[in-house]
Parts: sequence; C-alpha cells; structure tokens
Amino acid sequence: MHGWVWLPCPREALARESCLTGRGRYARLCMNYLALATDYDGTLARDGHVDEATLESLGRLKSSGRKVLLVTGRELPELKGVCPQYGAFDAIVAENGGVLYWPAEDKEEVLGEAPPAEFLQQIQERGVSPYSVGRVVFATWRPHEFAVLEILQQLGLGHQIIFNKRAVMVLPSGISKASGLGRALDALRIPAGQVVGVGDAENDHAFLEICGVAAAVSNGLAGLRQRCDLVTEGDHGDGVRELIERLLADDLQSLGVRRPRQMLHSGASEAR
Ligand SMILES: [Mg+2]
Repeated sequence: MHGWVWLPCPREALARESCLTGRGRYARLCMNYLALATDYDGTLARDGHVDEATLESLGRLKSSGRKVLLVTGRELPELKGVCPQYGAFDAIVAENGGVLYWPAEDKEEVLGEAPPAEFLQQIQERGVSPYSVGRVVFATWRPHEFAVLEILQQLGLGHQIIFNKRAVMVLPSGISKASGLGRALDALRIPAGQVVGVGDAENDHAFLEICGVAAAVSNGLAGLRQRCDLVTEGDHGDGVRELIERLLADDLQSLGVRRPRQMLHSGASEAR
C-alpha cells in the first residue's frame, strides 16, 4: 500500500524520487511512509533538549511531504518549557497518550479521565514524593511503584503502571502512547502501517508496535532494541537524523518487503 502526497516543491524531489509525476509547480509523490513518530527524552532529545541539526533534519522531513509527530510521556507545559520549538511538530501526543495537542491550532484534546481524587489522597497519606499530576497522567519515580500498586489494588482501580526508565506513570486502562498516536493518525488519515516510529525505552513498545517500521536509537534499552526492525548506529538525535536520512534517500525500501509487526518477535530483524 502506498500513500499519495501533493507536494509544492518538486524540484529537489524530482531528482530523488523515481515514481513522481509532475503537474505544474506541484507533483504527486508516491511514498510508503507518510509520517515519523518519535519519542522525546532519550530519543530526539539528549538531557531534555533537541539540537539544531536534529531540528533541521525534522524540517527536511516535513519538506518531503511527510508528517512529524512527537509521542512523549511529558506533560504539555513542561514539554513546551524544554522544547520551545514544539511548533515544528504536526501533532504532539503528551502524557503518554493522555493528551493530544495540535500546535498549529493550539488545540488540546484530553483523551482520558483525571487521576481519581481518592487515589491522590492515598498518595499523599503514604508520603509518595516527588510526584506530578497532569490532565490524565500521574507520575512519580522508582521505587514508589510498590506503594502505587498497593494503592491501586486497595481502591480497586483499573489503572495501569507504565515505566519509562526510572519514571513511573499511572494511566487509565487503555491509555498508552499507541492509543494517543492512533487518535492523531485517525485525524491525519494516515494508516499506522505507513508510519515509522522511533524510541528508546519501555513506554515506547506500545506505539512502536502499531507502526509500519519500529526503530530504536542505539542508546535504547536492550529489551526495546531486540523487538525493533532496525537499530540506528547513532544515539539520541544523531540516530533520529540517520533514520530520517534513510527515509529521504529511499523511503526505507532498503528494509525490503515488510511483514506485520506481530511476526517480528520470532527473530530476524535487520539489526540488534
Ligand atoms: Mg524516551
């Protein structure tokens, strides 16, 4: 399955794309992969910040007609604080799937319920600290996952605990980076199978699983790298730039014929 994209700057692309039909100043590009979905911390960003070269690379990808989506566990206000260039993204999935934000329209969609009051009361009574409360997510740090689990069980809540290295997030059942990305892709009318995803940690499994191609940066956790189609040679933003260069060069045709992601766990991936 291919996606068609109308692109108003065909001159550069004409030299690069083989399946291109010109029509005045516009051209229709045939591409397998219509979007890049990237995690923030530890993937696009190092120590919370994205370097200029990586931002420039994201711009080049957008110029190719593809969408760029950010999929992060961070709450929106803190993301905007550390990444003033957040307007570079077509959509931002924040709070690990709890919030969907459209920078161009400054429009925020809350995709789940707020942390229950009785849960927060128990958190305070148990002395769990530090923690933060978003629109949907509750976040704290290891080793508080044990106290959090006990509280969830005592209250009979169906919330789930999701790890991101040392971070511990609590989200309503069914809310994940995959559900948030799915909402964004539905709105953009892009099939998940035509998205390339890249991440580095436990909470990225969910959204990488639904992407057509799953990539891990070289600094990613071993458990994630083993389940991805490709592992970049570079780390953090260098790895994302490398992935973008491959996308721009041949639309990842070098990966060969794609199989459903569910079939990949038995072994053969391009790199480990
Ligand atoms: Mg990360």
